Amino acid sequence: MPLEEGRVPVEDRGYQFGDGVYEVIHVYGGKPFRMRQHLARLERSLAGIEIALPEPLPKIEEVCRRLIGTLREASVYLQVTRGVAPRSHAFPRGTRPVFLAYARETPPPPAGKSLSLLSVLDDRWGRCHIKTICLLPNVLARQKAVLAGCDEALFVREDGTVTEGSSSNAFMVRGGAVVTHPANNRILNGVTREAVVQLARQEGIAVLEQAFSLQEALEGDEFFMTGTTTEVGPVAAIDGKKIGMAAPGPVSQRLKAAFDALVRQECG
Ligand code: PMP
Repeated sequence: MPLEEGRVPVEDRGYQFGDGVYEVIHVYGGKPFRMRQHLARLERSLAGIEIALPEPLPKIEEVCRRLIGTLREASVYLQVTRGVAPRSHAFPRGTRPVFLAYARETPPPPAGKSLSLLSVLDDRWGRCHIKTICLLPNVLARQKAVLAGCDEALFVREDGTVTEGSSSNAFMVRGGAVVTHPANNRILNGVTREAVVQLARQEGIAVLEQAFSLQEALEGDEFFMTGTTTEVGPVAAIDGKKIGMAAPGPVSQRLKAAFDALVRQECG
């Protein structure tokens, strides 16, 4: 079909989560350069995030050649996403991958031109405060948690610092005070998180916005997560280890009740 007539379903996981992989193959004088290597990398990328190969490689190769047709200077774009399913981080069951490919005429890079560069900090991805749709790390983390029989993943940095969940913010309770990661570039500052911080202060519960380690979390009195869909979610165990005396603990319960009351007050 003509390129302009291609449509992406709104719930394609590539569109909503960045949950897919791609290749670009350069065509010189009608001949694709190193097509086999590109297709081998496509296969490895797919395996890397556990998406099934949508077609056998020889079939994909044939599709590419058909798309190139009579084009001389061109590129072929291939993309495979995990498919179309109701939005939820963990991998959907029984969903087929969506495979798309198109070829487009592309001018060769200008001959004899030297490049100029700008150095930038390699901070991919150090901007967790942006509610971006680049959610593949969150998707893979949630899937790992679900496969382990858990409800949510808890992100821990290399230095042992707990940041947040795959789609929720994390709080520990220690000595009657609530501790949560500061709202910086390492977490998404949840609307629910901010509401709960405010509620805690109104309730006379001390709130420390400071980083804590997984070890400290395991030794804490209580733990809970917050989020638009999670609301206030008391946590019973992390990595199979029970947190505190009982879940939900008294502080989590109080904040959950205060949050429910706030919702009733604001939304009726
Ligand atoms: N962290 C991440 C990574 C999230 O995706 C979400 C869900 N939006 C949250 C935290 C919680 O934010 P909110 O309370 O605004 O839903």
